[in-house]
Amino acid sequence: MALPIVHNPDHVAPLPAGHRFPMGKFGKVYEWLVRDGVATLDQFHCAQPATFEQVTLAHDATYVSEYAEGRLDGRAMRRIGFPWSEALVRRTFTALGSTLLAAELALEHGLACSTAGGTHHAFRAAGSGYCIFNDLAVAARWLHTRGLARRVLIVDLDVHQGDGTASILRDDADLVTFSVHCDANFPFRKEASDLDVALPVGADDTTYLAALAAHLPDLLAQTRPNIVLYDAGVDPHRDDALGKLALSDEGLLRRDRYVLETCIQRGIPVATVIGGGYSKDVDTLGRRHTIVHRAASEVWRHT
Ligand SMILES: [Zn+2]
Repeated sequence: MALPIVHNPDHVAPLPAGHRFPMGKFGKVYEWLVRDGVATLDQFHCAQPATFEQVTLAHDATYVSEYAEGRLDGRAMRRIGFPWSEALVRRTFTALGSTLLAAELALEHGLACSTAGGTHHAFRAAGSGYCIFNDLAVAARWLHTRGLARRVLIVDLDVHQGDGTASILRDDADLVTFSVHCDANFPFRKEASDLDVALPVGADDTTYLAALAAHLPDLLAQTRPNIVLYDAGVDPHRDDALGKLALSDEGLLRRDRYVLETCIQRGIPVATVIGGGYSKDVDTLGRRHTIVHRAASEVWRHT
């Protein structure tokens, strides 16, 4: 069988013209995977939207209901950065469902990828920075609660710190958070992950990969996770509109390959989510987000 990839057309919700968030990239990821022959149609799985019970494993029930019903106040929605719509609510629950299915498929097959996810700035009772529900925190709690994984390691390589995830999972000893990010990027008030590696502005492929190699193998040995949830954000790329690091396409590919190989060689399943990436050119950006699926396909073939 081929690498399982979770996708849903509902990952895209319309935004007002000129909105800064590159929503179109979620459709482009799917198009590039098919166009470039990275995946065939039979590899795609379609998840159900996450349920209220699943979401509230990591979120305050009042926050979840108020968001779902369009009752959050203007200030809370401005902190999220999206105008409320029913389509956005559908997208939010669906993208989270995709991460949960990817995690389940990863446990079953060793590796699986979503074409969305990585909403790591969402806190227990508030969204932030284009993130409404924290799929990484929900998935970690859900795997743990259902007895599917005793220990979960979240490897968050988005250029921004995984502050929401760190905050939600602060007291969960078996759910371990690792964030490599640019110190000078949002959020300006960082939370404490179990392990944070802050890189300086302009760090390149060599610096980045060395930092990762200095920490990931030890962390895997110490935590011995039953699964890794990997946020493969592409915003450390040098052309990213928000990220302040300087990785190349090749650097991102080497990074993703390294994370996947390092885990899988140790028998640890990995579920990947795409994380952040910002550019007005959603076509190029969507293709950049498929680097992780390309790396995963390679690793899948070689194992
Ligand atoms: Zn980011």
